[in-house]
Amino acid sequence: MTEPLQSASVASTTASSPPPGFVEKTPLERYLPPAKPSLVGLSRAQLSEALASVGVPAVQRKMRVQQIWHWLYVRGAREFAAMTSVSKELRAALAAQFTLARPEVVAEQISADGTRKWLLRLGDGHSGERRHEIECVYIPDADRGTLCLSSQVGCTLTCSFCHTGTQRLVRNLTPGEIVGQIMVARDRLDDWLGVARPAGESAVASSAGGQRLRQGGQRLVSNIVMMGMGEPLYNFEAVRDALLIAADGEGIAISKRRITLSTSGVVPEIARAGAEIGCMLAVSLHAVGDELRNELVPLNRKYPIKQLLDACRNYPGLSNARRITFEYVMLKDVNDSLGEAKALVKLLAGIPAKINLIPFNPWPGSRYECSDWEQIEKFSEIIFNAGYASPVRTPRGRDILAACGQLKSASEKLSARERLALRAMAMTD
Ligand code: SF4
Repeated sequence: MTEPLQSASVASTTASSPPPGFVEKTPLERYLPPAKPSLVGLSRAQLSEALASVGVPAVQRKMRVQQIWHWLYVRGAREFAAMTSVSKELRAALAAQFTLARPEVVAEQISADGTRKWLLRLGDGHSGERRHEIECVYIPDADRGTLCLSSQVGCTLTCSFCHTGTQRLVRNLTPGEIVGQIMVARDRLDDWLGVARPAGESAVASSAGGQRLRQGGQRLVSNIVMMGMGEPLYNFEAVRDALLIAADGEGIAISKRRITLSTSGVVPEIARAGAEIGCMLAVSLHAVGDELRNELVPLNRKYPIKQLLDACRNYPGLSNARRITFEYVMLKDVNDSLGEAKALVKLLAGIPAKINLIPFNPWPGSRYECSDWEQIEKFSEIIFNAGYASPVRTPRGRDILAACGQLKSASEKLSARERLALRAMAMTD
């Protein structure tokens, strides 16, 4: 059984009527918490309340929160029995009321270059909630491992080049379901403290403790991009709470400089993201004029380019070391003229920025084609000559070009969202 959700819960945008022609979807369902909730995704304060609910005295709660936080987010405990520093009585009391559940892995695909894709099923079939599925993608590279997370089942928006935009918005993910994607990835990669490295692993160096760490002691999952399914700023609170857990130095401990939130331009929430999360920002720009952007990213009708770029200019903490990434999908004869490349450079003048050119991957029914490679090169050269790092420059970038159907390779099997994630890897250079 599912319940219709009141439109008031769809972020702040429902407060006024949408401009004509603009479609902002409302969720079809509401999340129904299970009778026995998971502790994954609770803030420290919520965890403290959970401990209070099973009778932990106030004087002990801070210390117990620390212990459980460590077991959850450093050790990756999947059952209370593993929490050996917690008393047996408390473990039993917690197990009677709570779980440590994360999304269930339905399928795992591992590509030749090490990219992994997991199909994850949400919920546990409780309370009649339908079990929805989301994807989570891990992209390893020599000096980092990037995890691409989803924020919604479906998406609120209707970007015309994006397949997810054609899907209905089912519901927002909870903080536990967002953090749960990181937990699952670390589970599947054995990327927790104290987890022994399986024999034959050669892609990573091992520390003295036998953990699977990169050179320099980094975990396999070192970077996060909120770039999967959904518009994260339409699920602000859950995304914020999840990312703050991911960045907590006593737990998952991924630096905010290694966390990038990608938005289509929900202007009122951009300043909030800077103030309340403090992560890196990426913006799906894709056009240099409002007329075309209205078509590609219909949210532009509500928040046009000028407003969007003003919000970007004011994003807290911007500097040459902390730049905003502007994503620009290359659509043949739509937005790929050299005049548009010059206009793009002019438009972003004064904003510490990176530009990622994303070769478009057509999907069945899409009305666009990917720009020709020569055109992408010329476009890229104008951007490079204006002082930006060459946006299509790595061997992997060329690999991604297979997305345009010009080459046959394993990466051709990746979805459009995965390719966006691959592009995102350049964001933390
Ligand atoms: S590009 Fe992002 S915001 Fe736009 S429809 Fe696709 S998933 Fe939603």
